Amino acid sequence: MPAEEFVVTPYEVKGRIDYARLRELFGTQDLDAPLLERLRRIAGGELPPLLRRGVYYSHRDLGAVLDLFERGSPFFLYSGRGPSGPLHTSHLVPFELCRWLQERLGVPMYIQITDDEKFWARGGLSREETARWGMENLYDLLALGFDPARTHVFFDSKSIAALYPLAIRVARRIPYSTVKAVFGFEPSTNIGLVFYTALQTVPCFWPSWAEERPVPCLIPCGIDQDPHFRVTRDIAEGLGYPKPALLHSQMLPGLLGENAMSTTGDRADNALFLSDPPKTVERKVRQAFTGGRTTVEEQRRLGAVPEVCSVWALWRTRFARSDDEFAAVTRDCRSGALLCGECKGRLLERIHPFFEAHAAARERAKEWAESTIVTAAPKPL
Ligand code: SF4
Repeated sequence: MPAEEFVVTPYEVKGRIDYARLRELFGTQDLDAPLLERLRRIAGGELPPLLRRGVYYSHRDLGAVLDLFERGSPFFLYSGRGPSGPLHTSHLVPFELCRWLQERLGVPMYIQITDDEKFWARGGLSREETARWGMENLYDLLALGFDPARTHVFFDSKSIAALYPLAIRVARRIPYSTVKAVFGFEPSTNIGLVFYTALQTVPCFWPSWAEERPVPCLIPCGIDQDPHFRVTRDIAEGLGYPKPALLHSQMLPGLLGENAMSTTGDRADNALFLSDPPKTVERKVRQAFTGGRTTVEEQRRLGAVPEVCSVWALWRTRFARSDDEFAAVTRDCRSGALLCGECKGRLLERIHPFFEAHAAARERAKEWAESTIVTAAPKPL
């Protein structure tokens, strides 16, 4: 996209992203107030902060899956994780929304752990490492509070017998030219990654295949992942399955000031890992990039800029407990009444208990994680 000042693809995020423009470029729909209100009414109670505070801002066909839900045809949720290392707080964004939707609507959740893909994609990781991170990441995800009875995991290397019969059919529908264009494959790209597109598509159709009826699918994901699922949507009807609907989030800025919390290379300080000990969390937050001014005097006089601040992004996702508190942080930041040091100190008081509670829930999730892994196909194909 040469005319734009940013690039967003499944393999590259660059520049300052204009999210409204990105939605136009991708041709997705605005997650507007009437649709959010409809979701709130169907789900009951209050929407979660991720929806109330605009982190999720775009969609494809959400209205259609809500129509079907109200007519007695519930959707299932699907999200995945490529296990290349420990999870950080941004990784939780799609799963926190899924957990909320599962709790409120009682819908099934399918999680895909792509240990094969990370082995193919990351030269420096062994098979044993991606498999080990797969289980470690799964404990973290299940710890968010998913219902063991309604949560199913495709752990690619363990679930291949369940996935492969459908992957055969899916793979025949996807031309190489499509995946090359979408994922930027080079002549040196290994063929595992080429086939992986089929494996990532399978969960979107798996319940329809297993139950022999159309089961709608809803995928919360970062907007950068939309091109992946355009491939899936393109082939869905040809296979006789519903096109998956999508809910897109914005990318959360990294602690080093980058526009996404990527930690590849030596950028471990760009994110808060769920396994970080309290002292590391403290250090990372204290040195995090902010929208503050260079001196206290300037900040008091001019105010700061929350929209570019990685600390404000953390308040926005989950750490401000109420919208009133979030509005106060934003207002006081902008006016200069709140200085960055105090703001970070207050945020740390929220992050530490969150990490402690998560660690305890993670231990409990270990007891049932293995039982969620799907290992057999429901039928031959
Ligand atoms: S006051 Fe807080 S939200 Fe505002 S720029 Fe500083 S750290 Fe960020």
